[in-house]
Amino acid sequence: AALDRIEDVDIPGGWKVGTPVPYAALTKTFSLIEATTKRLEKTAILTSFLLLVIQRSAKGDPKSLLQSIYLCINRLSPDYIGIELGIGESLLIKAIGESTGRSLNVIKADLKKEGDLGLVAMNSKNSQKTLFKPKPLTVPFVFQNLKDIALSAGHSSQAKKVSIITKLLAACQDFEAKYIVRSLEGKLRIGNAERSVLVALAQAAVLAEKEKSSKKWSQDRLASRLEEGANIMKAVYSELPSYDEVIPALLEVGIDGLREKCKLSPGVPLKPMLAKPTKAIGEVLDRFENKRFTCEYKYDGERAQVHKLENGSVAVFSRNSEDMSKKYPDLVEQLPNCIKATTKSFVLDAEAVAIDRTTGKLMPFQELSRRKRKDVKVEDIQVRVCLFGFDLLYLNGEPLLQKSLEERRELLREHFIIVPGEFEFAKSSDGETTDEIQTFLEESVKDGCEGLMVKMLETDASFYEPSRRSVNWLKLKKDYLAGVGDSLDLVVVGGYYGKGKRTNVYGAFLLACYDADAEEYQTICKIGTGFSEEALQNHYDTLKELEIEQPRGDIKVGGAKPDIWFEPKIVWEVLTADLSLSPVYTAAQGLVEDRGISLRFPRFIRIRDDKSADDATGPEQIAEMYERQALAQGGGKKKKGKG
Ligand code: ATP
Repeated sequence: AALDRIEDVDIPGGWKVGTPVPYAALTKTFSLIEATTKRLEKTAILTSFLLLVIQRSAKGDPKSLLQSIYLCINRLSPDYIGIELGIGESLLIKAIGESTGRSLNVIKADLKKEGDLGLVAMNSKNSQKTLFKPKPLTVPFVFQNLKDIALSAGHSSQAKKVSIITKLLAACQDFEAKYIVRSLEGKLRIGNAERSVLVALAQAAVLAEKEKSSKKWSQDRLASRLEEGANIMKAVYSELPSYDEVIPALLEVGIDGLREKCKLSPGVPLKPMLAKPTKAIGEVLDRFENKRFTCEYKYDGERAQVHKLENGSVAVFSRNSEDMSKKYPDLVEQLPNCIKATTKSFVLDAEAVAIDRTTGKLMPFQELSRRKRKDVKVEDIQVRVCLFGFDLLYLNGEPLLQKSLEERRELLREHFIIVPGEFEFAKSSDGETTDEIQTFLEESVKDGCEGLMVKMLETDASFYEPSRRSVNWLKLKKDYLAGVGDSLDLVVVGGYYGKGKRTNVYGAFLLACYDADAEEYQTICKIGTGFSEEALQNHYDTLKELEIEQPRGDIKVGGAKPDIWFEPKIVWEVLTADLSLSPVYTAAQGLVEDRGISLRFPRFIRIRDDKSADDATGPEQIAEMYERQALAQGGGKKKKGKG
């Protein structure tokens, strides 16, 4: 039934085949999605909108669908191109003021009441009397303007941004202002994860095919085609995470031809496979019982996905698919030395690790994190970096994801050359007993590593699973063995002014985890001990620029009362000795109990600038950690279902 709903919507200005998608149609879709909490219904609404986009696009026009999809996931380009929104609140308030003539103080007061600047913008617009109706906004127009905003840089860029936003807002009707402002803030908050967008896209393609087909489809056929389509789309996108590639191909060859047409290809980074934490060697053996597995050093560096194209160009991508070639010009320069002449194109999964120039010893991650992220010049580099290759995902025109790790590793070793201090294979041991693993673990720690990665070697359980935290990769860190458990990556959302000597800086911070399904930050703890004066000053300098008076609407505050709030942007890695239920904080509320979970005695480890706020630890992981701890203490609680 949800599929009929968009048809009923009165779309201003009409929307004929071959004309641009009205922005009003998209925002109406958003508002319908936001109005329901049912996941299937959300997807169905989006499906029907996308079906209309496909059917009403002119022949050979992939742009309408492409831009609609980008606006649905609130991005403007693939991750690796990195055109980002995330405009600060004060700039937006200024633009809302300018386009509606309301005073900034009134807007701020409204924001305090509503907690959502999008809503405030919409209400401000709708309470305004307009003499004439503005020209309707279209998806391509909004998309282009958002892109111009994101790309404007330089000293007059603030004024330019405000001016574009003001003009956009002036043309907004109905729901449009709400979603434009939220898009600009960087979060749509309609509870529509990217996974569901992929499913909706696939379903729309299948439905378009059904409508075109001359035969009648049975209900069973339709259901199985929808499911099959969604699976194809998810698999294809995980190999080639670029709508710029996938959407034109989808429109050209249809869902069935997609697998053949869209394969992993050098130049488009895929989301890396991740590991599950384990607490004891026994757990590893339980999981991998009777299967062959390998233990590798878990190097303490930065993930580096290295791509070499057929034309010779090389790029290094981060864990987040950011292009890091400018941070690691030395890696790019070193690379040709370690590739055999027969190795024409590849995608290599590796860890970039700092090493001491004279002793050749591994150095901790902190050494690398001192590097600038851009425009590093080879001659200025102090710390040398060595690449430790551990997986090969593509070689000479062929994706290898569906080969066993054993085969991939063999190809890796065959096609690359060890250059000590520049390129090495991750040290590994295919040992099988507790003693062997224990010895290798101790050795890894002595050599300056964090511990071990234990990986399934054979059968389909050892395929490379992009973007998954897989049970076929286990991490065994020395910290876990000491009983502290895995670290968490948390977003700094608030600050507490310091006391005594520390009055000029923040003395403590409010941290939050991130719920990707609900698109919200959930507070988890206050952290304030263990910072040096210098560290506090550095944190202050970074966070000062992100200050906002009110918590953003997507922060689930609970009872936390920091002195000042921040735009959620900075991610810290934190260790904790203990997790406890809390009446104050909101992390994982409803997962274990109605109360949230908080960290006791949290300890700051490092800034994770390779992670964005959306990559922070999620509530499920926190609930899992809490339950493990409860179990270890002998009083396990059953997990409640979510929602
Ligand atoms: P962590 O804080 O442990 O790095 P994470 O979420 O970034 O957490 P995990 O899946 O927990 O990633 O751990 C895997 C990370 O360890 C990889 O992203 C990679 O950067 C690093 N690593 C070091 N050595 C290896 C190895 N031999 N194989 C795979 N990953 C390795």
